[in-house]
Amino acid sequence: MFAFSNFFLAPSLDVAYSELLKNKKNIILGGTSYLRMGNTSWNTAIDISNLNLNYIEEKDDFITIGSMTNFRDLETNHILNTYFGNIFNIALKDIIGVQFRKNVTAGATVFSKYGFSDLIPVLLALGTKIKLFAGGIVTLEDFLKETTVRQDILVEVLIPKIKTVCSFQTVRKSKTDYSIINLAICNNKNNISIAVGSRPGRAVLAKETMSILNNSDNLELSIIDALKHISEEISLDSNMRSSKVYRELLLTALLKKGIQEVLK
Ligand SMILES: Cc1cc2nc3c(=O)[nH]c(=O)nc-3n(C[C@H](O)[C@H](O)[C@H](O)COP(=O)(O)OP(=O)(O)OC[C@H]3O[C@@H](n4cnc5c(N)ncnc54)[C@H](O)[C@@H]3O)c2cc1C
Repeated sequence: MFAFSNFFLAPSLDVAYSELLKNKKNIILGGTSYLRMGNTSWNTAIDISNLNLNYIEEKDDFITIGSMTNFRDLETNHILNTYFGNIFNIALKDIIGVQFRKNVTAGATVFSKYGFSDLIPVLLALGTKIKLFAGGIVTLEDFLKETTVRQDILVEVLIPKIKTVCSFQTVRKSKTDYSIINLAICNNKNNISIAVGSRPGRAVLAKETMSILNNSDNLELSIIDALKHISEEISLDSNMRSSKVYRELLLTALLKKGIQEVLK
């Protein structure tokens, strides 16, 4: 169990951020499910739950998701379902159970860049940006590439407001285990995007494979090429959940299934 010396209920984002900067061992609290798995002793735990950051809103160009929004709200939200079908529901429904998903937050998940995340590939394939309190707006793709950990607060997630047909593919050894590999495939008017997660590293976009699919006038041939190319493009590895070779086999099979679903 994690511990902290002081608890600070932030009255505003400004104050939360200045409190965060005061000590390298100060942290922002999300739903605390992941923090509770560790044994770290922190200095000040900063609670941002009073700052109205639990929302999913439709704006002119984006759907914005506040950082304290929980997974259950993402799964069941009518705005997300209207624009992206049920991809959030499909991607998140096997994470432990409903009570757990009512607690874990979008902001903590994205900020932590978990390699095993089922949410991050979905957001990545949808062309998401994130808003950091100090760092401003950056693409999720660039943020995931950063190797240093920012001392910042993720304020909201911004998904382009474009109706998109999506498919989420994953394999787990048992229903509530982490994904062995996961893919989000999205088709926005025949422009296909593919994000691969649980490689087991952080999620990445399969840009070359996307380009094979999107720049061809013979879709059938381009699908064959894409299926051949994806394991050359995406680096996979072994860990306690799966060997690299098994992941490679799954990657091709799941991509095929996902492409078929988004082209239906
Ligand atoms: C037992 C278990 C099983 C899981 N299984 C899966 C799974 O199968 N698939 C899956 O996708 N995920 C899984 N997860 C991860 C889960 O979905 C969440 O991603 C994770 O728990 C983090 O969310 P949280 O709200 O609990 O974060 P917290 O534990 O509160 O915080 C995590 C980190 O994020 C930081 N943080 C929190 N909020 C912010 C913010 N707004 N800005 C900046 N930093 C912030 C915290 O300081 C901390 O370092 C699992 C987690 C657990 C504990």
